[in-house]
Amino acid sequence: MRIDKLLATIGYGSRKEVKKMLKTGAVLADGTVIKDAKTHVDPEKQIVTVHGEQVEYREFIYLMMNKPPGVLSATEDIAQHTVIDLLTPEDAVREPFPVGRLDKDTEGLLVITNDGQISHQLLSPKKHVPKTYYAVISGEVTESDISAFKKGVTLDDEYVTKPARLIILKSGDTSEIELTITEGKFHQVKRMFEAVGKKVTFLKRLTMGDLELDEDLEPGEYRDLTDEEVEILR
Ligand code: URA
Repeated sequence: MRIDKLLATIGYGSRKEVKKMLKTGAVLADGTVIKDAKTHVDPEKQIVTVHGEQVEYREFIYLMMNKPPGVLSATEDIAQHTVIDLLTPEDAVREPFPVGRLDKDTEGLLVITNDGQISHQLLSPKKHVPKTYYAVISGEVTESDISAFKKGVTLDDEYVTKPARLIILKSGDTSEIELTITEGKFHQVKRMFEAVGKKVTFLKRLTMGDLELDEDLEPGEYRDLTDEEVEILR
């Protein structure tokens, strides 16, 4: 990869700014000063430094965000804020995208990456990756809802859902539940509760496969996935 592209991609500024920096002699590859922006380097094999500090280059980035309510799970929108707007410029410049969608008002676990393969792995309907949600429900959730979700409920478009696991955490006029589903139909959790005459008033995703939301992340915060977490997703 060209050195100017590499450094711009990592977040050392625009290509123009990187070119200027190269001219100052601040950039070395395996100990040799690189001034020509067209020079090719292999960041995985060579040691590239800027002002003596080693540049860390990873082909892909993998982020875990605790999505806050009020932002879209999209890369861009002309009128509304997206989850990508919450990233630092250094991360946004890597052109990541959210893996799957959470509704604007839904919170919780969102993986953001620029690795299309891992995204496919998580979203492919054939993989049946389970996703667990915590929800607050207006109405009394009962044992009959557990059975109905286990069998499958008919949504407003006649689609019958795959077996899902419902756990009641609190039951009353307002109930609290955890629901695990293995598919990802549009507004699925909300529509499943509508199918049994109840309304979701708060929804938060807790897990995707074996990946769990880091509860230390405040809504809107994110962090890199650990190497172990990336492995979990593969
Ligand atoms: N189900 C929903 O209804 N909304 C989401 O955001 C995710 C799952």
